[in-house]
Amino acid sequence: MLSKLFAKRIKTQNPSRLQGLFPESNFSDNISFGGGCPDESLFPSQALQAAYQKAVDQEQAHSFQYHDVKGPGTLRDYLASRARQQGIKANADDILLTAGGQQGLDLVAKLFLGAGDEMAVEAPSYVGALSAFDNYEPVYHEIPLEDDGVNLDYFEEVLKEHPAIKLFYTVPDFHNPTGITISLAKRQRLVDLANRYDFVILEDTPYRDLRYHGESLPSIKSFDTEGRVIFLSSFSKILSPAFRLGWLVASPEIKEQLVNLKLSADLEVPYLAAGTVAAYLADNDLDQHIDQLKQVYRVKLDAMAKALKTYLPADAKISQPEGGFFFWVELDDEIDTRQLLLNEAVPKEHLIYVPSASFYPNWDKNNGLRVNFTGSSLSQIDEGAERLGRILSPAQTA
Ligand code: PMP
Repeated sequence: MLSKLFAKRIKTQNPSRLQGLFPESNFSDNISFGGGCPDESLFPSQALQAAYQKAVDQEQAHSFQYHDVKGPGTLRDYLASRARQQGIKANADDILLTAGGQQGLDLVAKLFLGAGDEMAVEAPSYVGALSAFDNYEPVYHEIPLEDDGVNLDYFEEVLKEHPAIKLFYTVPDFHNPTGITISLAKRQRLVDLANRYDFVILEDTPYRDLRYHGESLPSIKSFDTEGRVIFLSSFSKILSPAFRLGWLVASPEIKEQLVNLKLSADLEVPYLAAGTVAAYLADNDLDQHIDQLKQVYRVKLDAMAKALKTYLPADAKISQPEGGFFFWVELDDEIDTRQLLLNEAVPKEHLIYVPSASFYPNWDKNNGLRVNFTGSSLSQIDEGAERLGRILSPAQTA
């Protein structure tokens, strides 16, 4: 009963968005389409072990010391030059290393949002971002998604009605959870809207390099003329999530405040992780590694697309991602995918997916689900989709 002492913003009556997202399932034939896990066999484990050794050898006892909040300059140099290759004007000083992309989401929310502040999000939106934003008690405006990204005519009407909107959060490349990519024209118009209606865009791009079909599009940040776009990315999906290493590119005015907030959160980026990744990047070609990931993930994406089409009910609306980690499925309005997960999928079919409600600010849309395809083998993809088909078919016809 100590919860009465908690800060008012801690909502004990609501389950955390992230905890409980993945129900326990210890069946030996369990298949998980749940979390956004990379394929473990693709981690460059030996090269990373060698990089760790090199990082420690180079600095000896000093590697175990406190370091500067900004993290290793070599790593920030590398990330700045990678950003420049993508048309983003940046140097090492514009880069802030974060504890995963997740900390970037939290720090940006902490900078812009207080109770009642207005922000816009795609509906649906990445569950971990909503979970980070929830803590600052914003008022959410939900902007629906179309096949080529967020509906900007709708967004503009919302902006006219709610000029106090300060922040818009988007995952423009292979969106989590839907897999959708925002078109070029919409990227440009988003920056125009931000300039005109005076808000900041948080562009979250952990899947950006993982395109398996089609042509890459310029980032939203590359169109930024007023320093209004914060570009956020991460090593989690392209190297390993265990380093907890992400980064953001922001204009000096914003970055300076984010540095202060990072200092008060955790003083600095874990130096052994950052030093290891810096050493890995000095001795290995990250793009070559990403090419290997893409070859494997392309086959998995195609296999999942085929399996979902084969096994799911004919009227299920299945997204058609060209990269990333996820498919999104929308079903008949009466279907409650959370109930199906707990009552059918986990206990009877030993299958995990993520139900749609978690991806909406108000948990109010129950007829969809997210499916991950990178963490499963090809046979699990086929078998898991068949199980999903069995779960959804009787409900569809009920
Ligand atoms: N943003 C998006 C869109 C994600 O999908 C994830 C991970 N699932 C993150 C941020 C956070 O990832 P990490 O903290 O591991 O970088």
